[in-house]
Amino acid sequence: MDYYELLGVARTAGADEIKSAYRKLALKFHPDRNKEPGAAEKFTQINEAYAVLSDTEKRAHYDRFGTAPGAGMPGGDPFGGMGGAGFDPMDLFEQLFGGAVGGRGGRRGPARGDDLETEAHVTLHQARAGEEIEVNVDRLTECDHCHGSKTEPGGKPPVTCTTCGGAGAVRGQARTIFGVMETQQPCPTCRGEGQLVVDPCTVCKGRGRTLKSDTVKVKLPKGIDEGYRIRVAGMGNEGPGGNGDLYVHIEMEPHPELQREAEHLVYTAPIGFARAVLGGQISVPTLDGPVTVDVKPGTQHGDLHRLRGQGMPRLQASGSGDLVVQYELHVPKPGQLSPEAREALEAYARAVGDEVTEKHEGFFDKVGKIFRGD
Ligand SMILES: [Zn+2]
Ligand SMILES: [Zn+2]
Repeated sequence: MDYYELLGVARTAGADEIKSAYRKLALKFHPDRNKEPGAAEKFTQINEAYAVLSDTEKRAHYDRFGTAPGAGMPGGDPFGGMGGAGFDPMDLFEQLFGGAVGGRGGRRGPARGDDLETEAHVTLHQARAGEEIEVNVDRLTECDHCHGSKTEPGGKPPVTCTTCGGAGAVRGQARTIFGVMETQQPCPTCRGEGQLVVDPCTVCKGRGRTLKSDTVKVKLPKGIDEGYRIRVAGMGNEGPGGNGDLYVHIEMEPHPELQREAEHLVYTAPIGFARAVLGGQISVPTLDGPVTVDVKPGTQHGDLHRLRGQGMPRLQASGSGDLVVQYELHVPKPGQLSPEAREALEAYARAVGDEVTEKHEGFFDKVGKIFRGD
């Protein structure tokens, strides 16, 4: 593979000539506009050639040895001489064209579809099991009528843009702190597409894409919690340079009885005075169904009882949190005591010397009088 041959220039070609040759070829074989087999490979090759020949040192090395610097070294990255691992021909293309050609936000060459965002309401059960859920999202996808060609089927084919001659980009000048710089800007006539649609598709109005409702499957990581977002690659809007991604924001559905605190679940257990004193059993809801828990005699308001490992799985870690039973002493309100219960409670009060005295009654009577204004 001869780099000069690839770009179709002489060995004596100057920098401008090389650049101009590359530019024509890059646009011709850009994967965005050339879908012929082998075009993408050719695009990579001419980018590789330009990366070497546009750099004075690398070009000198190539002229002497016939290889790119660092190429062909055992175990070496074939693109090592051109900026190390991850050499992306698109980056070079972008550098030269300023990302203006069909770029998304001017950052990259090919127009990638937009990222989309949506939210999913997730139950504790789904989060614990790491279920696959479905979310609905409206995405721009290829028009079914014109199959993305933008032209009405049977209509006149698109014509080459005369403003840019099909290149999609026009030269411009920009004033910068370095002085007046020559820039490449997307052609204002064809908006960087290089061609103009004559008979726009009647369904998508020549956009090539239509908004469709789509159902996307999302695998929840075990233990996922409120506030996280999950990226579903490629499920954003479709674009000629690839699809955008879908970001799913997680919102936790409240559970009727269990409260989540990170990997722990908290159950507030109302407990009567007698059972707190004497001990007994209560039923505690867990995500696997109700379990019976022994209440220790002498349980106090606010006491905790831990069911180890009955909470939520730890996100990206092993094990699970606990289900914490927190006792809440239930004190009957006025009118909630039956005469029998009241009698029993008074008997209890006498037995432990905690009787309702005249003094107490007198106090409340006085307070009542003050409020009544007697
Ligand atoms: Zn269409
Ligand atoms: Zn144009």
